[in-house]
Amino acid sequence: MESFGFYWNHFVELETQNLRSLLEILGSLGGHGGQSLRTWLFQQIPLGITLSILIAGEFVIPWRRHQRKWRPGLGLDMFYTLVHTALFFLLFGEAFVTTVVLACMDAIELVTGTANNAAIYLNKVPMWARVLAMLAYAEFQSYIGHWLLHNVGFLWEFHKVHHCSPVLDVWNAQRFHAGEKVFWSLFSAFPPILIGFPPREVVSVTILTVLLSYYTHSNIRIPLGPLKYVFNNPQLHIWHHAATIDPKRNVNYGDATCVFDYLFGTAYLPEERTNLKLGFSDVDDYPTTFLGQFVTPFRAIGAGIKDRIASRPRVLSR
Ligand SMILES: [Zn+2]
Ligand SMILES: [Zn+2]
Repeated sequence: MESFGFYWNHFVELETQNLRSLLEILGSLGGHGGQSLRTWLFQQIPLGITLSILIAGEFVIPWRRHQRKWRPGLGLDMFYTLVHTALFFLLFGEAFVTTVVLACMDAIELVTGTANNAAIYLNKVPMWARVLAMLAYAEFQSYIGHWLLHNVGFLWEFHKVHHCSPVLDVWNAQRFHAGEKVFWSLFSAFPPILIGFPPREVVSVTILTVLLSYYTHSNIRIPLGPLKYVFNNPQLHIWHHAATIDPKRNVNYGDATCVFDYLFGTAYLPEERTNLKLGFSDVDDYPTTFLGQFVTPFRAIGAGIKDRIASRPRVLSR
C-alpha cells in the first residue's frame, strides 16, 4: 500500500491527461481535425445508435400519445445526457474511479497478503458465464444502490434531481446530479472489479445496463409478454416516479431488470397509467435549471446539518 500522496499524484496525472485530450477534442471542433475527436466520436456510437432507435420508437410506437416531444426541460435533459454520458468520465470519473480502485486493490493485498484469488478463478470461467454472473451481480447491486438513494437522507437530496422531471422520455434517463453520478461510478464499477471481474467486461456490462435504462424511461410501449417479469420497462418504471408514492417506501427500484423487485416484493404495477403526476410532494418548488439543481442538494444537506446541531441538547456547565 502506497502513501496518500502517491494516489493523489496518480489521480492528478490521469486527470491532467484527460483534460488535455478534452481540450484537443474542443480544438478539433474548431476545424483542425484530430485523432482525439475521432476516438471520442467512435466511443459515442453505442449511445448514438440507442438514442436514435428509441427516439424513432417514441414517434412510431408511443405509449402516452398526448405527451409533447418538444417539451419544457428538453434542452436541460439533453445537456445532462451530454455531460453525464459523453463527458463525465473524461472530466472527472475515470481518474477518480481508477485511483480509488487501485488504492483498494493495494489495501486488499496488504490485508490478505496476496493478490485477488477470485480474479484468478474468474479468469478460468468461460466469458459468457462470467458476463451473465456479472450482469446478475451488477443488477442486484444496482437494486441495493437505488434503495439506498431513497432511504439515506443525504443521498435522497441528490437523487431528487432525477425525480424532479414532470415527464418521462428517453432524454431524462440521464437527469442525475453529479454527486449521484459519482455514487454510481463507485457503487457499480468498483465492487465487481474488486471481486475480480475484468475491468473491461465490467465497463461493457455497465454500458449495456445504462443503455437499457434509456428504454426504461422512454415513452414507448412494446408488448413484452412474459419477458415483462425480466426486463424493466416504461410501464413499470413510471410508478417509481409517481409523486404520490412515498420516496422511502418506493417501488420498482430495478434498473435493467425487474427480477429483484419481483423477488423482494417491491414490484408495483396496479394498472398501466398514462396520466400519473410525477415527482415528489414539493416538486413544483424545485429549481428547473442545471445550476439550481446542482446547488440545491448541498443547500438542503447543509440546512439539515445546521438543524441537527441546533436541536442538540446543550450540557449546561455549573
Ligand atoms: Zn429513484
Ligand atoms: Zn428513473
